[in-house]
Amino acid sequence: MAKDRMCGINTVLIHGGIDGDKRTGAVNVPIYQTSTYKQLHLGETTGYEYSRTGNPTREALEKLIAQLENGKYGLAFASGMAAIAAAFTLFSTGDKILISRNVYGGTFRILDKIFSHFGIKYEIIDTGNITDIETNITENVNVKAILIETPTNPLMEVTDIAAVTKIAKKHNVLTIVDNTFMSPYLQRPLTLGADIVLHSATKYLGGHSDLIAGIIVVNDEELAQKFYFIQNSTGGILSPNDSFLLIRGIKTLGVRIERHQENAGKLAKWLQTQDWVTKVYYPGLPDHPGYKTQLEQADGAGGMLSFEIKEGYNYEAFLDNLKIITLAESLGGVESLICQPSSMTHAAIPPEIRKHIGITDRLLRLSVGIENYDDLAADIEQAAKKAGA
Ligand SMILES: *Cc1c(COP(=O)(O)O)cnc(C)c1O
Repeated sequence: MAKDRMCGINTVLIHGGIDGDKRTGAVNVPIYQTSTYKQLHLGETTGYEYSRTGNPTREALEKLIAQLENGKYGLAFASGMAAIAAAFTLFSTGDKILISRNVYGGTFRILDKIFSHFGIKYEIIDTGNITDIETNITENVNVKAILIETPTNPLMEVTDIAAVTKIAKKHNVLTIVDNTFMSPYLQRPLTLGADIVLHSATKYLGGHSDLIAGIIVVNDEELAQKFYFIQNSTGGILSPNDSFLLIRGIKTLGVRIERHQENAGKLAKWLQTQDWVTKVYYPGLPDHPGYKTQLEQADGAGGMLSFEIKEGYNYEAFLDNLKIITLAESLGGVESLICQPSSMTHAAIPPEIRKHIGITDRLLRLSVGIENYDDLAADIEQAAKKAGA
């Protein structure tokens, strides 16, 4: 029953993939903490040979996440970056990858500093501008893939996934969507025509800031075979223990996201009324340029927002005086985290590019947690007072 995606997503979150342990009746898939498996006879195995190649706990997670993303094949990696690196190894010298202009800093860095050694090129474009994408793809036969994040990090720009995949398909270009910010609870890019979905499962999927993990989900069998080969050959697999933790985190994804989103929506509206805030970036605000597309392609606006502090307010004092909200990188955990993208998450992006796209030092990104809303708003209010000009 639970394997049927006709079930509601909250049911799939809890019973999807491999539900429990057949042998003992344990309601949770055990942690198969083993590197190798006994072979029954020469050339006869249980289906498992070596845990880099396959492990039952990891497999349970991989089946679960595939189902959640409306995909056929899931693969779990040791980090989001390991998953992204695996995706880029699909390409060869001379190939070009188009990326969103405020893509995750690490995604930019791995293309700029590592895959460039292998002759794989990239170009930063405004994926919010469909005409730009079409021009880029049509004018350059070497473009083999387009990687988008929507909403983007940290400026929350929205890209129309279906519009991008339509153009990409026409030109035989793969669409890769980093779905970390939305999670499959809110947005399922494969259904909108994407070829590859990536996750830093460290964020909302794990949800408790206690593990690092990455995910790839695809529908196409040939692509899946390539990824199994890459995963087994390059070895950046997720451990059995972290696979277990991630399955556990995923069970509560729905209730967590609902609460993250409720808090974020209220905070975004409230921040807009504050005179020390010059701009609020949240795709759930009706005056956000991506509002309509966001609500068409996703089931909500999520729990991430950014805001810019007015000149004259001391942003360092603001950050120092927060008591509940923690200054830290990362996002998607139950606790509220705040960061300054220019010096933290996006430090790998050269200053001139940062400035060009609007990531100033006064821009702060907030991963809104599931604490009581009133406590979060009060925390921000008292810190802003102390940082006042
Ligand atoms: C964190 C993050 C990554 C990198 O994932 P890790 O698990 O830290 O390796 C990639 N993309 C996005 C959007 C992220 O937020």
